[in-house]
Amino acid sequence: MQAKQIAELLNEPACSHNTKSKSGCAKPKPGATAGGCSFDGAQIALLPIADVAHIVHGPIACAGSSWDNRGTRSSGPTLYKIGMTTDLTEQDVIMGRSEKRLFHAIKQAVDDYAPPAVFVYNTCVPALVGDDLEAVCKAAAERVGVPVVPVDCAGFYGTKNLGNRIAGESMFKYVIGTREPDPLPPEAQRPGITVHDVNLIGEYNIAGEFWHVLPLFDELGLRILCTLSGDTRFHEVQTMHRAKVNMVVCAKALLNVARKMESSYGVPFFEGSFYGVTDTSHAFREFARLIGDPALSERVEAMIAREEARVNAALEPWRARLKGKRVLLYTGGVKSWSIVSALQDLGMDVVATGTNKSTEEDKARIQELMGDKTKMITDGSPKALIGIVKEYQADILIAGGRNMYTALKARIPFLDINQEREFPYEGYMGMVELARQLALTMESPVWQAVRRPAPWKKDEVPGVAVA
Ligand code: SF4
Repeated sequence: MQAKQIAELLNEPACSHNTKSKSGCAKPKPGATAGGCSFDGAQIALLPIADVAHIVHGPIACAGSSWDNRGTRSSGPTLYKIGMTTDLTEQDVIMGRSEKRLFHAIKQAVDDYAPPAVFVYNTCVPALVGDDLEAVCKAAAERVGVPVVPVDCAGFYGTKNLGNRIAGESMFKYVIGTREPDPLPPEAQRPGITVHDVNLIGEYNIAGEFWHVLPLFDELGLRILCTLSGDTRFHEVQTMHRAKVNMVVCAKALLNVARKMESSYGVPFFEGSFYGVTDTSHAFREFARLIGDPALSERVEAMIAREEARVNAALEPWRARLKGKRVLLYTGGVKSWSIVSALQDLGMDVVATGTNKSTEEDKARIQELMGDKTKMITDGSPKALIGIVKEYQADILIAGGRNMYTALKARIPFLDINQEREFPYEGYMGMVELARQLALTMESPVWQAVRRPAPWKKDEVPGVAVA
């Protein structure tokens, strides 16, 4: 990939950094790839496309460090779970045969698994060697008879976020718009209801959480052409251009896809979230507003009234247990405000939230939700997080899996909110699960037990230990 293309991807015009600040997106800093390289970001964005053969072109360690690291679920094919790599070695580099290995790997993947498409992810070694990824993929596609999509995302190009955008760029360049959607099947047609096609971009179906929301789309007469990329099939990505509206669920990841679809196909988009009652209702209202069908708006309002009443009744016992509990939230991006909103729906007090990966717009929304007492934190080091828990007397730390041991060693209740988690939190019923997990975590008898002074330290005052 050329430096110019990388700069264009970093300087995403629809990104709120660009629309709200003169300085544009932050340039990558030394060490900025610590949270994952561009290859990792690209693969994480596309791996949930379940029926595709995903081949990592590079040394096996690249595939090993990123394979299946998001708890995304598929309702059908499981081909995406098979880690495929060209497993380049020193000998391949010395002998100049890495392109040949890639060609054979593509052929083997198609012979063994007959996928509808193959995605090839570039990594540092072949990029440095100078492999012509695009040419090999083109030649292989002609040979094997299925699309072979190059994703030129070598790790050293930059950050994980850049990799997300490179993935989106590959989908836009090679896949979206290459097929028309299937006609609506007779069983999906309902008298008097016009069905509208929509897409979700940046929805990854973590722990199967989108399945909480999907039946509501069906009920409203909204057909989802594609959820890029949770529980998605290749042919669904091909038809995305025919949607009437795109909802961008994770703004930082694939905003470039939404913007390009708006400029090339006239598909409007909005940014939203399915975390929390308020935001879930807001997302459905946005679909109705942008589609502009009054009958749809009526159905949406009726569904929201019914679901909110149902979820409020289900949450009542949990609210009584959670009300007033103090939370330190350390996550990034869209989740930094959407989870704040969900926790406030439960009557909890968010004392601070991480904004490391948040856009200016995300921060503005946090400010709107939390008011002047907002504490935005960017330092996610164990020492800083535990210090804030202590300073603000937080009852629980909600963060990504990598912070789990920090919390547990300091004897602080911890809930995993990121991609590796086991529990689905989206939609109205996802809120009940979130409330249940929060209550179970904080009320676990283990905290009493571990905070008790050790028998040989009888005089120690029980409380939060600082590591
Ligand atoms: S930085 Fe390069 S070598 Fe390391 S995992 Fe990423 S692609 Fe592989």
